[in-house]
Amino acid sequence: MSPAGWEIVIGLEVHVQLKTRTKLFCGCPNKYGADPNSLVCPICLGMPGVLPVLNRQAFALAVRAGLALGCEVAAVTKFDRKNYFYPDLPKGYQISQFDRPLNGKGSIEVEAPQGKKRIGITRVHLEEDAGKLIHPETEGADYSFVDFNRSGVPLVEIVSEPDMRSPEEAYAYLTTVKSLLQYVDVSDCDMEKGSLRCDANVSIRRPLAPEFGTKTEIKNLNSFKAVAKALAYEAARHAEILEKGGRVEQVTLTWDAVAEKTNVLRSKEEAHDYRYFPEPDLVPVTADPAFVARIREALPEAPAARRERYAKELGLTAYDAGVLTADKEVAELFDRLRAEGLAPKVAANWVMKHVMAVMNERHLPATEFLGKARRIAEAAKKVEAKEITGQTGAEVFAWILTTPETASVEEHVRKQGLAQVSDAGALEEIVRGVIAKNPKIVADFQGGKAAAMQALVGQVMRETKGKANATVAREVLERQLAAP
Ligand code: ADP
Ligand code: MG
Ligand code: ZN
Repeated sequence: MSPAGWEIVIGLEVHVQLKTRTKLFCGCPNKYGADPNSLVCPICLGMPGVLPVLNRQAFALAVRAGLALGCEVAAVTKFDRKNYFYPDLPKGYQISQFDRPLNGKGSIEVEAPQGKKRIGITRVHLEEDAGKLIHPETEGADYSFVDFNRSGVPLVEIVSEPDMRSPEEAYAYLTTVKSLLQYVDVSDCDMEKGSLRCDANVSIRRPLAPEFGTKTEIKNLNSFKAVAKALAYEAARHAEILEKGGRVEQVTLTWDAVAEKTNVLRSKEEAHDYRYFPEPDLVPVTADPAFVARIREALPEAPAARRERYAKELGLTAYDAGVLTADKEVAELFDRLRAEGLAPKVAANWVMKHVMAVMNERHLPATEFLGKARRIAEAAKKVEAKEITGQTGAEVFAWILTTPETASVEEHVRKQGLAQVSDAGALEEIVRGVIAKNPKIVADFQGGKAAAMQALVGQVMRETKGKANATVAREVLERQLAAP
């Protein structure tokens, strides 16, 4: 949503850590979560006299990222020093790319709330990450720690054109970028681990105004929802200033997720002058067309193509196809369930209803479920064959998650006596008991309240711990209640 009478203009800068074995310019492991300062060497600590050597795998992954985002790969690319002082930057400069980025213009199609839209990519360049400051929680502490394990980890910076026109569109763009990069396996894009980070630029203008307004840049955004919220907040703040006849100041801000407001980090006067100059310790690199062609040929099916295939060939709804393909591993699990013999619609329901619920609740990746596909399919088949009820199926699913692959679903159902009770004879006695214990609901039903039947079926379900065949239970109930 834009403030009334204004158009929002948004451009995003996204930093993504590449999934390499080692860092960009040295042999230290590129690994998250190790003991602080345990993955460092003179090169990534910026000691005098050391020389960087470009990581070939990082270069290849950055090309892959560029291709996934529809960019032109430059024939020749070079590195530059971006100079600034910060305690997490031991060299006093970051090796980045200035005027000859590895990947030039591209674009991606985004499924925004208002429909499909193409968003331009300005460039995708390669650079090294900085270290990380850790501020102690202790009240009044006047010191901070620094961990250099992240120093020198390879990043791509993806700069978008100012093509987005609402926070919702920015959200959709981020979701698409993440999904594309996960598909081509260049990064896990895990925001909680900082492997994907986003800075958001925003301005507003009157619709049809020929020029963009003055932008502000928001940093420190730790979720896509925070990006959308911060953009809406900032646009409203700009509108308020402009409507009072004021001018928006070009500043860099941080987002306070607790207070849900932005705070000024620095003004334009305090902006860094990075004094970029060519990195003298690294030669320009030529991306050989044959090398680029090999990477292009090895790209997997894009999520949009997979979504289309699921909808066209498997008959899933556009919505279901979209949900199942947004995360590559979720799509993989869906494919495995189908390979185990489930119909597309059934496999889709199990993934969306059972698996994704647990993923969201416990913050688990879909990979946690891949090894359980065979048994999940087995439980789903039992529900389909009406051997167990849907409710029992959900319980068996929960059981599957806590037991090893060797634990048999078949045996569990048999030993626990979970089989669905469809035998009318077996339900007669239970139904009699339910009728006797619920005179009020029975009276409601006989007074013409149809919903009361649902309540009685529910009671039978409770008595049988969810094992009764609901249709048969209803039939027996209707018969007994109709009897004089
Ligand atoms: P800077 O020099 O301040 O870093 P750039 O021109 O490099 O600015 O742009 C950085 C990001 O800001 C890009 O993603 C770009 O699309 C976006 N951007 C540029 N101008 C505007 C504007 N007027 N409103 C919103 N976003 C903008
Ligand atoms: Mg910039
Ligand atoms: Zn190192």
